[in-house]
Amino acid sequence: MSLSFDPDSLALPMGHFIGDRLVAAEGVIAMHRPSDGKAYADCPVASADLVDQAVQTAKKALKDSNWGGIRPRERLKALHRWADLIEQNAVELAKLEALSSTRPVGHLVDGDIGISAEQIRFFAEFADKEGSDLVPTDDGNLGMIMTEPYGVVGAITPWNFPINMAAWKLGPALAAGNAVVLKPSEMTPFSTIRLAELAVQAGIPAGLINIVLGDGMTTGNAITGHPDIAKVSFTGSTRAGSAIMENIARTGVKPMTLELGGKSPQIVFADADIEKAAAAVTASITSNAGQACVAGSRLIVEKSIAPALIDAIRRKMATIVPGPTWDSASQYSPIISEKQRQRIDDIIAASVSAGAECLTGGRSIEMPGYFYAPTLVAGIDQNSPAVVEEIFGPVLTLQTFEGEEEAMSLADHPSYGLAAGLFTSDLSRAIRLTRQLQAGTIWVNRYGRSRDHILPTGGYKQSGIGKDLGREAFQANRKSKSVLISL
Ligand code: NAD
Repeated sequence: MSLSFDPDSLALPMGHFIGDRLVAAEGVIAMHRPSDGKAYADCPVASADLVDQAVQTAKKALKDSNWGGIRPRERLKALHRWADLIEQNAVELAKLEALSSTRPVGHLVDGDIGISAEQIRFFAEFADKEGSDLVPTDDGNLGMIMTEPYGVVGAITPWNFPINMAAWKLGPALAAGNAVVLKPSEMTPFSTIRLAELAVQAGIPAGLINIVLGDGMTTGNAITGHPDIAKVSFTGSTRAGSAIMENIARTGVKPMTLELGGKSPQIVFADADIEKAAAAVTASITSNAGQACVAGSRLIVEKSIAPALIDAIRRKMATIVPGPTWDSASQYSPIISEKQRQRIDDIIAASVSAGAECLTGGRSIEMPGYFYAPTLVAGIDQNSPAVVEEIFGPVLTLQTFEGEEEAMSLADHPSYGLAAGLFTSDLSRAIRLTRQLQAGTIWVNRYGRSRDHILPTGGYKQSGIGKDLGREAFQANRKSKSVLISL
């Protein structure tokens, strides 16, 4: 089935979603379509008062529905109905997502949207299976670790996988018995609004999911600093993560989960399957045009096989055909904004004037929209901006090593530790080096997430605090109370 659509033909749900309805608001931030650069809408910015209205709505809904106290299986069933509706409306959601974001429509129905529905079901299953614990004490006492929902969770999501990031936040928070006030990125709000409408349609009590639109400074700060937001769950840049920590420290202490940036290495040893490694490395840096937190942006390859691997990667990069996100056949994404495309270009230009060489790419693609060619940069060292900074584009840096020690030293990033890839046929080495790598996720002889949602994701170092996905994400949405009863 072709999913191609006319980008001017879509009716866009625009406004804040509070309770059970869309609250119209005046647009403030100009939105441009990444695929053709056209200004097409203005995103409203929720004031602190409006955020407060959303938080009070969430509190009231929690109380009226007793969401955190009903039979857990009822929560589970409601979340399953929501996942069903997401699947039934996947084509509409895919179009809304593809219009404003960098995600090609052809990748969305079975990809991001199907996976989001699956993850909501995954979290739903914890509702009636994961609970409080009786703990060993002496015979004179009964000890318990009792868990309960936080109340209203404040969630903030980025633009790079809008619907999926919303599912990562909403799924566990709701399954664990909380309500949510969520701010999507001001660049990509539509699919998240529609997700909330579908939740109400599925019978999740109105007011448990509220979507407020806006930027970080006004709306984001109002969420993270609100006294009735009991926990913050954020995904975005390390810069914004630090600003959020600062705001929370200033306005009142509360727990937070921060999923932040990365600059992940892919280490290829001479004994690896070169074609397989080349395919994984290329896919990881060209998928969503490298605009993924776990993009494998630093290729670290054993010197003896560098020419063969480079050749295979260049061949694969050369076959990539860009196209607008609303064309079903498109495989390669635009960059999210002109500003971001310019930033990528500036880093490349600075690297080249410092002696680096682009083995392929290193330029924008001449076509409408903000497309940038897949780029492989050599002639850089460990301190080059191209190696240190999260570029968030299709830029792969190349470094070579001789021996495990040098490989590990190059792999270690001064501030990021989100993910790492290791390609080798030596099992002992794979396990040895997995233990050494300082990253929250290690992929061996593959790169990228599978549909095993039980594996949590989260960063070491400045790549974050806490985990999304897995049992950990459910548990992070409940607080625990230690109880000791004298018998
Ligand atoms: P961003 O940090 O600019 O924005 C993310 C969200 O935070 C947006 O909704 C934005 O409006 C909001 N925001 C910005 N400043 C804020 C503040 N001071 N207070 C509250 N909210 C604020 O990031 P982005 O450009 O949208 O997304 C790309 C970044 O997200 C990359 O760094 C990427 O690595 C990271 N990311 C991480 C993960 C992960 O799981 N670790 C997943 C996806 C993206």
